[in-house]
Amino acid sequence: MALTDSYRHKGMRKALVRLLSEKGIQSTEVLKAIDTLPRHFFFESALLEHAYEDKAFPIGEGQTISQPYTVAFQSQLLQVKPGDKILEIGTGSGYQAAILMLLGAQVYTIEYQKVLFERTRKFLPSLGFKANFFQGDGSLGLAKYAPYDKIIVTAGAPVVPKALLQQLKVGGILVIPVGDKKKQQMLRLTKKTEKTIEKEVFDNFAFVPLLGTDGWK
Ligand code: SAM
Repeated sequence: MALTDSYRHKGMRKALVRLLSEKGIQSTEVLKAIDTLPRHFFFESALLEHAYEDKAFPIGEGQTISQPYTVAFQSQLLQVKPGDKILEIGTGSGYQAAILMLLGAQVYTIEYQKVLFERTRKFLPSLGFKANFFQGDGSLGLAKYAPYDKIIVTAGAPVVPKALLQQLKVGGILVIPVGDKKKQQMLRLTKKTEKTIEKEVFDNFAFVPLLGTDGWK
């Protein structure tokens, strides 16, 4: 890992932020967080040159760090407020979790793959980001610490897992890509009352599959 944030890196990051803004990301808070966080810290040295391209990249174990546009889009849909208690399903590299913390959230993040969980729970605190890390099947949520203000799923789900809606506060928001293994529609589900969910449908994305009980078997 190269942990130097040079002028060149900062310049590439500014260009990425401009691109995201041209692609329609409007939240100044989200754009600022992306401008602040060195994405190249989350890359293996062989891939460093690609860190500021608007693309997903491999992080090992067959998994990816999401495309910056996707991270920005999901973060914007979540409407993060400082102090929000957020559950993230799919810790991966920890990049999305760090963006949520820069937005002021208190983050609970769960990862299925042991190797990624072990790596990221050591790595993120070394950058000064203190999330609460868990290993397990996030398709069941994380009942022990529920309810959450917001839940973000960063893997493609076949259905909306019931547990995630149950673990949201009334007024809470779930952002989740749902579809088949190749492409998913981004959904924002707002829990209006205990029994009423408002559903908004956004663009198509292509995520790695959500595994587990309420994911792909
Ligand atoms: N948020 C990540 C980041 O910023 O790097 C991107 C994550 S990657 C696109 C999706 C992650 O979801 C993978 O690390 C994968 O192992 C994880 N995953 C898949 N199914 C899961 C499940 N049921 N529970 C928790 N994590 C899961």
